[in-house]
Amino acid sequence: MARETDPIGRQAAEGLILLKTGATIGILGGGQLARMLALAAAPLGLRCHVYSPEKNSCAFDVVHAFTCAAYDDEAALARFADAVDVITYEFENVPAATAAFLAKRKPVLPDPKVLALTQDRLIEKNFISDLGIATAPYATVHSATQLADGLEKVGLPAVLKTRTLGYDGKGQAKIMKAADANDAWRSLRGVPCILEGFIKFEREVSVIAARGQDGKVECFEVTENEHRDHILHISRVPAKVTPALNTEAVRVATKIAKAFDYVGVMGVEMFVVRSKGKQHVLVNEIAPRVHNSGHWTIDGATVSQFEQHIRAVAGLPLAKPLRLGKKVEMLNLIGDEVEDVERFLTQPGTSLHIYGKGKPSPRRKMGHVTRVWPAK
Ligand code: AMP
Repeated sequence: MARETDPIGRQAAEGLILLKTGATIGILGGGQLARMLALAAAPLGLRCHVYSPEKNSCAFDVVHAFTCAAYDDEAALARFADAVDVITYEFENVPAATAAFLAKRKPVLPDPKVLALTQDRLIEKNFISDLGIATAPYATVHSATQLADGLEKVGLPAVLKTRTLGYDGKGQAKIMKAADANDAWRSLRGVPCILEGFIKFEREVSVIAARGQDGKVECFEVTENEHRDHILHISRVPAKVTPALNTEAVRVATKIAKAFDYVGVMGVEMFVVRSKGKQHVLVNEIAPRVHNSGHWTIDGATVSQFEQHIRAVAGLPLAKPLRLGKKVEMLNLIGDEVEDVERFLTQPGTSLHIYGKGKPSPRRKMGHVTRVWPAK
């Protein structure tokens, strides 16, 4: 990393990055998260250059520049690195070799070491547990025999998950009784797995945390999430949790952000459980990126999760987020739901976000709607 102040204004002594107006942020991945990041960068006077192998990437529509090339195309990656001032990403499955190649040329934030910790559910759970943070009981499962041992340890019902590449319920099999175990193991094709006890949670929540280069952390309030068919359906704030639970959830997310030495926005998904009459959180998953459950912040808060992420990677101070309105709800538009949206255009307090992904397909996130209920 350069040691003197260069044209982008990198601050020498602290090794911090401070982007100036007109600087360019490179984003790996070209989906709706990259699109909303680019839209948030513009008012700060920053440009975005998206790198994605998909030729119809919806982020291409709104950026200063884009590169459409494979993640192992070193010539394209090198040109991309030359064209940008700092690099970030919108998804956690950035190949390790891609991140390492780019990190030799330009700062990559959050640090790619975070990818290695979050791409594998087992490594992630071990990391969280080592911080003294509660999770569902879990066991490593690399064979049918280990699955039988794991069921002894975590109990029934349980859920078997592939260690890598699972999302929106893909790569998961629920085990209700011991006799289901072999089918579950076969359905995931014998790849390395983690077995988790199935938690009877009261509700699911998330904390969207931002950490700046100066180490300051700002969290959005706890968000309550309702899933349909394993896909996020509705997010609501305020969540129906006690003030003590809100404090605990924010403390847990802050602890993880600090332990990762994180720069940017991350989403921490949690289950709320009740024991001895009190609510507690168990961490389910960490997303090292902006998160679907934080989309309400675009219209429902004084600063959005996307702007916070851009501020963090650009070296700007974070804002203290405040909710607008007495409650806010975000509804995902999945598949052809995006074709029936006219009513949202006239509904009071409602904002429509269509991602421009072209033809809808089932289970695909095509847009979202946010409704803000005014304080009075
Ligand atoms: P994940 O891919 O781990 O985020 O899981 C997707 C969804 O499956 C979660 O949001 C929960 O609704 C459910 N789920 C995952 N793991 C568990 C668990 N151990 N106990 C109960 N529900 C779970």
